[in-house]
Amino acid sequence: MELTKGAKLLIKTLNDHGYEAYAVGGFVRDNLLGNPLFDVDVTTSATPEQTLEVFKDFKVYLTGLKHGTVTVNSLGENIEVTTFRVDGDYKDNRHPNTVKFVSSLNDDLLRRDFTVNAMAFDGENLIDLFGGKEDLENKILRAVGNPSKRFEEDALRILRGLRFASVLDFEIEPETAKAMQEKAHLLKNVSVERIFIELTKMLLGKGVERVLLSFKDIIFTVIPELKACDGCDQNTKFHSFDVYEHTVKSVAISSKDKAVRWALLLHDIEKPSCYSVDARGIGHFYGHQAKSAKTAVQILKRFKADNKLIKLTNDLIYLHDIKTEISRGDIKRLLNNYGAETLKKLALVKVGDGLAHAKEYAFERERLALEFLNTVNSIIDGGECYTLKDLAVNGNDLKGIGYFGQEIKTGLERALSLVIDGKVENEKGLILERLKNERPS
Ligand code: ATP
Ligand code: MG
Repeated sequence: MELTKGAKLLIKTLNDHGYEAYAVGGFVRDNLLGNPLFDVDVTTSATPEQTLEVFKDFKVYLTGLKHGTVTVNSLGENIEVTTFRVDGDYKDNRHPNTVKFVSSLNDDLLRRDFTVNAMAFDGENLIDLFGGKEDLENKILRAVGNPSKRFEEDALRILRGLRFASVLDFEIEPETAKAMQEKAHLLKNVSVERIFIELTKMLLGKGVERVLLSFKDIIFTVIPELKACDGCDQNTKFHSFDVYEHTVKSVAISSKDKAVRWALLLHDIEKPSCYSVDARGIGHFYGHQAKSAKTAVQILKRFKADNKLIKLTNDLIYLHDIKTEISRGDIKRLLNNYGAETLKKLALVKVGDGLAHAKEYAFERERLALEFLNTVNSIIDGGECYTLKDLAVNGNDLKGIGYFGQEIKTGLERALSLVIDGKVENEKGLILERLKNERPS
């Protein structure tokens, strides 16, 4: 394991001034795993004031002074330097507002959440008090100390645990897993923004299927609307799983895209409330697309997700069952209404959804979704006209041939429709001629 150049200089500089300093947390973990490295976090015996004094000739940012963190730019790397600390009193199972600085690394490592996140490295020695390296080798996520107490202190750790289990594809050690389930109700005290961040990272991890299936009660604590999907039998030949299992499989098999995976997690959420059985005993879910989209929007708003994600997810869920064997012209109309990004992601949603169907149907659905994606891409890459903006005529051109008022708008729409369907080429003279001929005089 090796420190980055910036971290090496930073740690050496602190050591030269008589302070202890170590790389900690995600950097050490990801380094040992051989994963690509992101930011280095450093923990030190120097107080924030001492750190500022040591690095007075460096560029520093006072990012989290009240938590003891100073960001130092060392050889171009922004490194968060945090004073050894323990967390102060926990109120309401939330992150503490106060922290207490301590003098030993051991105490600092004790407050960390999981053994694999609680190792330190000074450039030569690995400080591993809780068997983090062994857990890393065995792909095990284990709380530091008494898991129940640790989740009581800060319930966010429960979701961090699910996130790491998914992203690292680790098993959660049984005692830790049990405490997570038992303490999940405390998540009500954790901020929705933090919950949303962890859920999003979890959704994008390799182990998402296992996590969503093994810890469904925790998932239902933060997204109660999903619970009814669990055990909801679909009674149709198209499905071999209940709604929740189908949902989970669709997420896990889909592209690692935030909107695609959020849309898939919520795409059938109102199937249970839309269920009906026909005379032959076959299940139907009429209207579940629009209703699920609405519920998804409520959930994402509750999580204070950004508007772009909310809009995308709404459209993707609303459209998730549309037929893809439609004409090129109709695909252009969808492009005009929803935009290129949404339609490309819709194809990815349909691949995930399709592949999670009964195996007799899965590959055909995937094939159709990919064909749809190909058409969408070829329309976009070919620069084909599908919006009024792309049209070779504008309102003034129509005025020029005698259109006025409201007629101009309908005339332009008519022209777009003709071009989209390939009935007229997107060429000014040809379009105007066609409109002139069509216009009752
Ligand atoms: P990543 O940066 O990839 O999200 P990370 O492990 O570096 O992963 P951070 O949120 O950056 O996670 O936190 C850095 C370290 O701080 C963690 O590795 C862990 O040791 C500790 N930590 C972070 N949040 C908590 C928490 N809620 N409870 C206890 N320790 C925590
Ligand atoms: Mg980090």
